[in-house]
Amino acid sequence: MKRILVTGGAGFLGSHLCEKLLREGHEVLCVDNFYTGRRSNILNFIKNPLFEVLRHDICFPLYVEVDEIYNLACPASPIHYQFDPVQTTKTSVHGSINVLGLAKRVKAKILQASTSEVYGDPEIHPQPESYWGNVNPVGFRSCYDEGKRCAETLFFDYHRQHKLRIKVARIFNTYGPRMHPDDGRVVSNFIVQALKGKPITVYGDGSQTRSFCYMDDMIDGFVKLMGTPDNFTGPVNLGNPDEFSILELASKIIELTGSKSKIIYKPLPQDDPTQRKPDIKLAGKALKWRPKVKLEDGLKETINYFRKLKADP
Ligand code: NAD
Ligand code: UDP
Repeated sequence: MKRILVTGGAGFLGSHLCEKLLREGHEVLCVDNFYTGRRSNILNFIKNPLFEVLRHDICFPLYVEVDEIYNLACPASPIHYQFDPVQTTKTSVHGSINVLGLAKRVKAKILQASTSEVYGDPEIHPQPESYWGNVNPVGFRSCYDEGKRCAETLFFDYHRQHKLRIKVARIFNTYGPRMHPDDGRVVSNFIVQALKGKPITVYGDGSQTRSFCYMDDMIDGFVKLMGTPDNFTGPVNLGNPDEFSILELASKIIELTGSKSKIIYKPLPQDDPTQRKPDIKLAGKALKWRPKVKLEDGLKETINYFRKLKADP
């Protein structure tokens, strides 16, 4: 049994990770400032005696004793991370310095939830880990993209300078139950719109692509990455390489919900990447991991979740 800290543990991915670690018999400390996280995400296991939750902003130092740290704290949807961009950068930069300092003091192994956004609007397709990216440093997405890039730098410098055991996961678009219904991400937006019979808002002409990974696969990837030998640091891409245009996703969701919603077109947000698809050869080799859940199956689970939420908010 290990003592494991999950920052951002009340969020979408963090809460599923806490649940999996508890199922494996570990003690889990969830640290969250509840900026986008919700109490309802952790209700299933809040009474588990191995689970503890602490309301805390990782921009401030934290003194706890743990064996492993998963650093997931950071708003992930453009609406939320752009609402208070300075806080977003602080969460990635000051937050990482604090959790890395903690890992150094207690000699914990630490995993960073990085992102495919470090590749920006990529000129190479699919994106391998060796690609350095094409990122606007002064745009609306920069607080998130550059914050996460700086966090990666900090992780690697703590590794080189202080011999910290680090793991860096570059997460591609992930979806599933417990996504925030108002967070503006494409899967939750389209499902909520379809279930309410409202127009499906496609930004731009809908030809931009994304590769969608179901949360179960992603959480499995996190735990496998944490379990790799100490000489494996990443960065490693985690995501589903099946690529879809946003228009294809909209049609699939209309079909699966049986909705009568019509598609409407809205302006494409600034710096919206035109394509994104992970090269997951490294994850296959180092983690023996590849996603198993097909988009259609994952969407059905997610639609069921949002249906229940609509009936019993
Ligand atoms: P989320 O918004 O549901 O979860 C983030 C959690 O972090 C929330 O519970 C929030 O309250 C908490 N948080 C934010 N700032 C904090 C702070 N300063 N101190 C403490 N807690 C704080 O998002 P998610 O989709 O679960 O993403 C989790 C992590 O994975 C994030 O770091 C995100 O950047 C990364 N990621 C997610 C995706 C995705 O598609 N879901 C893709 C790439 C990267
Ligand atoms: N998108 C859209 N309609 C929406 C929400 C998003 O067409 O209601 C598009 C968005 O412009 C982007 C893609 O869907 O091209 C994925 O957006 P999301 O915010 O989910 O993730 P990210 O852009 O960070 O990959």
